[in-house]
Amino acid sequence: MELIYGKDVADILTKEIVYKVSALARENKRLPKLAIVRVGEKPGDISYEKSAIKCMEKCGIEHVECTFSEDVDKGVFLSGFKKINVDKNIDGILVLRPLPKDMDEAVAGKIAPDKDVDCISHYNMGKLLAGEKDCFAPCTALAVEKTLKYILDKKGESLRGKKVTIVGRSTVVGKPLSLLLTGDDATVTLCHTKTVNLARECAAADILVAAAGSAKLIKEEHVKEGAILTDVGVNMDENGKLVGDIDLFDVGDKALFATPVPKGIGAVTTTILAMQVLKARMMHE
Ligand code: NAP
Repeated sequence: MELIYGKDVADILTKEIVYKVSALARENKRLPKLAIVRVGEKPGDISYEKSAIKCMEKCGIEHVECTFSEDVDKGVFLSGFKKINVDKNIDGILVLRPLPKDMDEAVAGKIAPDKDVDCISHYNMGKLLAGEKDCFAPCTALAVEKTLKYILDKKGESLRGKKVTIVGRSTVVGKPLSLLLTGDDATVTLCHTKTVNLARECAAADILVAAAGSAKLIKEEHVKEGAILTDVGVNMDENGKLVGDIDLFDVGDKALFATPVPKGIGAVTTTILAMQVLKARMMHE
């Protein structure tokens, strides 16, 4: 089994982004800019914010951090959010969710569709469902799609006709990914906690995507010989170690390719975010 590190995929994308951002700089044009909206001090949010900032800096993309206290009044928060939303110098907005209280829905309903770089609005999700290309899909789902294309490219193959099973049906990962891969002509099965025989559904797949958030859920019995495995899960095991949804030790050499956790899909996600901010900047020309 060959391990596919996210950095290898991210490096290719970064090169492309840097090239395009440098072209804007050479022409003395405004550089792309991301606003990161955070409420409170959740360690997971802070850690994602840090890696997003590091990635933007690497790509030459500007950023601004818009941080609110955990107990911020909803009205105060929404008026702060409105300023970012209408600021012509900001191309994309990343909202670290879930937000406290009922602010999530309010923000998803108010975010400008052309700045919604992580697809939290129904507008972009609807466009994704309709198969329209000029929308923003969620970054993690796109990261999986890009990684799969990178792996298949190594084999001289494409997603067309491949049987893909996705474990997890969230609106952030599983569902949008099923739409993207269907658009790539794959045949997609979407599994969840009520799936009757998870092992059977998984073992029938050429490509298995685990996005359940359940440590080491996927074992050897879930994997078809020669399959490609991508692991989106981020979990702590009983020893406090970061692990994915796939037990790669148990799977052994049954799979052909697999993405590890850490250093797998997560490393691609922030680069996709940079790609989306650049796309938004081009829309704001
Ligand atoms: P979520 O909203 O909790 O959804 C989990 C999905 O998995 C649900 O659809 C659930 O089914 C299904 N599921 C859970 N346990 C299962 C089981 N034992 N068998 C079958 N299906 C099961 O989680 P999420 O936001 O999609 O995130 C999933 C994982 O990805 C988490 O570990 C998260 O930390 C990680 N993540 C990583 C990135 C990244 O960039 N690497 C980004 C986002 C999320 P039901 O619908 O039936 O409940």
